[in-house]
Amino acid sequence: MRILIVEDEKSLADIIKKGLEEEGYAVDVAYDGENGLFMAENEPSDIIILDIMLPIVDGITILKSIRKAGIKTPVLMLTAKDAVMDKVSGLDSGADDYLIKPFHFEELLARMRALLRRASEVKSSVIEIGDLVIDTASHQVRRSGGPILLSSKEYALLEYMAVNRDKVLNRTALTEHLYDQNFDLDSNVIDVFINRIRNKIDRGSKQKLIHTLRGAGYMLKG
Ligand code: CA
Repeated sequence: MRILIVEDEKSLADIIKKGLEEEGYAVDVAYDGENGLFMAENEPSDIIILDIMLPIVDGITILKSIRKAGIKTPVLMLTAKDAVMDKVSGLDSGADDYLIKPFHFEELLARMRALLRRASEVKSSVIEIGDLVIDTASHQVRRSGGPILLSSKEYALLEYMAVNRDKVLNRTALTEHLYDQNFDLDSNVIDVFINRIRNKIDRGSKQKLIHTLRGAGYMLKG
């Protein structure tokens, strides 16, 4: 999953970015509203974490602009304590949830998972595909009851495919949702990761879950 953080408090933005990357998310950061608006409109983010008080263009204006442009990406806004009107106008302008600063990182993660669930057809924090079980809260993966150890990037790819199960996902889409804007999109890295996951999940099992559709992409299907 790919996250856009729009936050002018650089130390806070960088801490969130680092924490999210450790969880396997790809993260882009904008430190002002103008850049934030541009990235919100142009990067394929799965969630936007949006501060309200921003230089150049404020968060409410960004929200209104992207919703007007038909961008439905879930938005989690960050507000200052006691800023009741920020919360109200944020929610009225199309924000999906909010967090009051300062917040616990675990709560941010849980709210992001909830937003991602709402945006997808997956309604539980545990995704089951055949005998493959993915716990999106703990990042534990099991097949036929046996634990499967994945790196954070392997996990991120598997989770993205699981959330989009039964859909053909091409390399570009997978790369765009797993890597930030600094990544070279021409790389074959997705194929490498698919092979690694396939070795860990499908090898030795009669039922293959990861399917290659030649010329089209990959699909996770039970
Ligand atoms: Ca701010």
